[in-house]
Amino acid sequence: MRRIDCARIREAVTAELVRINREIGPDVLSALESGLRTEESPVGRSVLGQLIENDHIAAREGRAICQDTGMVVAFVTLGQEVHLTGGSFREALDGAVRDAYREARLRNSVVRDPLFDRSNTGDNTPAVLHLDLVPGDGLTIDLMAKGFGSENMSALAMLSPAEGEEGVRRLVVDTVRKAGPNPCPPVIVGVGLGGTFEQAALLSKKALFRPLGEPSPDPRYAALEASLLADINRLGIGPAGLGGRITSLAVHIETGPTHIASIPAAVNISCHASRHGRVIL
Ligand code: SF4
Repeated sequence: MRRIDCARIREAVTAELVRINREIGPDVLSALESGLRTEESPVGRSVLGQLIENDHIAAREGRAICQDTGMVVAFVTLGQEVHLTGGSFREALDGAVRDAYREARLRNSVVRDPLFDRSNTGDNTPAVLHLDLVPGDGLTIDLMAKGFGSENMSALAMLSPAEGEEGVRRLVVDTVRKAGPNPCPPVIVGVGLGGTFEQAALLSKKALFRPLGEPSPDPRYAALEASLLADINRLGIGPAGLGGRITSLAVHIETGPTHIASIPAAVNISCHASRHGRVIL
């Protein structure tokens, strides 16, 4: 049995949340730079240049990449041999969000209730927490600061098996088309296929954690990812929705077994400010 103190978790998660709000990942930066080289539209190139400059300034000056500092999502993979000590995991996680957003002066973007009390919680808590229990004594926390301009443009459909690959293609491309400029393109498109209604949504969110440039390990889905990316980039939405070819930097598909009667299909969109990181303890 390995002991991990909750104070240590809080400290490590705080540091990572501050970092991801200031430093865009090298995978995203390199995809933006590659987009700058291939974008045909002069306006699109200008937007991509500004996004890259913004990311450099944020990292250099310790400023937030975007004013929408997002809602924190944590995918926690906890080994069954771990004994958490010194408090509750939930309090460590929310404490880290509180500390990070205060320390780095990040905007608090969370309200208490979706309908009847939209007052700000004042510290960006609570985080959204997903837990996976695995063998072993490790603890991995994948973190995302998820902006909602893009979250709002996400979609889910319970497709019939007969709709097949074509149905999935239609859903993904139509979702990006309808979103237009709203999710702050160039976007990253996470697609979750399979499981149940809620599992598909989780898979689509997980897909956004995969480093850009890393295709699905299944060659059939890797080919579908590449083909969907090409279709999306023919829509003409372009950087910031001002026209051009670079509407999306990547399409990632994650899958799981599902029921004989369905293809649950979810599309979760991330903006170019795709802020994600990992804590391993
Ligand atoms: S969707 Fe992304 S880039 Fe757009 S405002 Fe929100 S965090 Fe910023």
